[in-house]
Amino acid sequence: MSHRATTRIVIVGGGAGGLELATKLGHAYRKSTSASVLLLDKHPFHVWKPLFHEVASGSLDVDMDGIDFRSHAANHGFEFQLGSLTGLNRTNKIITLDAIYDEDRSVLIPERQIEYDILVLAIGSITNDFGIPGVREHCLTIDDTHEAERFHKGLLNQFLKIKAQKKDAPLTITIVGAGATGVELTAELYKVADYLRVYGFQNVDRSSLRVNLVEASERILSALPHRISEMAGGVLEELGAQILVQTQVQGVGATGVFVDDGAFLPSDITVWCAGVKCQDVLDQIGGLSTTRRHQVIVRPTLQAQDDPSIYALGDCAACEQEGGQFVPPRAQSAHQMATAVAANIRRHMKGKPQKPFRYRDHGSLVSFAEYSSVGVLSYMTKHRFFVEGSIAKYLYISLYRLHQIALHGYINTALTMIVGRINRKLRPRLKLH
Ligand SMILES: Cc1cc2nc3c(=O)[nH]c(=O)nc-3n(C[C@H](O)[C@H](O)[C@H](O)COP(=O)(O)OP(=O)(O)OC[C@H]3O[C@@H](n4cnc5c(N)ncnc54)[C@H](O)[C@@H]3O)c2cc1C
Repeated sequence: MSHRATTRIVIVGGGAGGLELATKLGHAYRKSTSASVLLLDKHPFHVWKPLFHEVASGSLDVDMDGIDFRSHAANHGFEFQLGSLTGLNRTNKIITLDAIYDEDRSVLIPERQIEYDILVLAIGSITNDFGIPGVREHCLTIDDTHEAERFHKGLLNQFLKIKAQKKDAPLTITIVGAGATGVELTAELYKVADYLRVYGFQNVDRSSLRVNLVEASERILSALPHRISEMAGGVLEELGAQILVQTQVQGVGATGVFVDDGAFLPSDITVWCAGVKCQDVLDQIGGLSTTRRHQVIVRPTLQAQDDPSIYALGDCAACEQEGGQFVPPRAQSAHQMATAVAANIRRHMKGKPQKPFRYRDHGSLVSFAEYSSVGVLSYMTKHRFFVEGSIAKYLYISLYRLHQIALHGYINTALTMIVGRINRKLRPRLKLH
């Protein structure tokens, strides 16, 4: 691919998949001059995306729990640059990064171009507003940590109002989309109401909150087995949520949501968690073939269909498996793809042929804050079995531990767990500012 002595490997996106890949390749080439590894991300720190609903609720504090890319890069043999991908020139093997602005929008660093020999696209996905009127203007999303933190501040402000006004009417939050994100966020919000009482909001409790969970399909968690939907529905209704299935949102206004039977659901905060698509920047970027949802179409080896020097992984890759199914947009997919791309890049460096990626579905787990967890496993067997309660909770947490082990190794992950235990004693259970 390249005639340079050093092969420049550039990874765009340090999320669930990209950061694991950069770490693996950093370890592989840190003592070698044959390759250099550069990670680019539009944010300076990493938080594992399946925890974003915990940032939104305040259970997780990004300042304390985020991984600083620069420090991680220094410790693991790769380089990091802050920047947002805006363009790709495949002929000259150059990507373009947007200018970086400071808080008053003056340019700190102008638009830049970066050369690569091997490029990996790992920029994830965002929620899909399907062009529904009012979603962009009136809905919050939790697609990134800034948005999740904005949601958290808005939530605390609304509860502050309730505290000050001794208001009887509950805070009404409408969550559109009852996939894992919407369902887990619902439970987290009831946890916030429960904990705020402990922290001086005496007139706030679960009855101060009403969550409407709106879903277009016939059941919540429709990608998972019926039994999981039923278990999840039971937990959420017991917490106080109202579940509205087969309900299509027609539009969103400043004070609520218009649904298909002509009804209007008044809402203090509306959160959009429905559907997944990739960012517009990927739409035929550099002439690459992309899907309707802007995912880069990849070969079984995870190389772009039109260009073997470009790989795509995670949510932004459209990877068809045997049987015609596409790899689902999940953290476990991103993790498995990162491992496969790392191995294929190492094979390329040794002049060996590329190996096809095969996705293994180990099941899905859903957590309801501290109240419960449910899931279905298909590990090492074709038979599925259901788990709930503390076993499901333990398995759910172990998914995050696997990500931490991929980034920090076993010893540092164990140390992080000990620090986490200490912090549970020292820090409030919720971020309160
Ligand atoms: C609240 C929530 C809960 C979830 N729960 C689960 C779960 O329980 N189990 C599960 O398997 N999956 C879950 N998911 C899905 C899972 O998080 C994603 O499938 C996974 O994170 C995808 O990994 P990725 O590496 O493709 O992208 P991401 O992890 O999204 O990372 C993308 C990275 O790219 C960066 N980036 C984006 N655009 C640019 C750009 N233009 N230039 C440079 N950098 C850019 C971002 O800052 C980010 O660091 C959940 C998602 C959410 C939102």
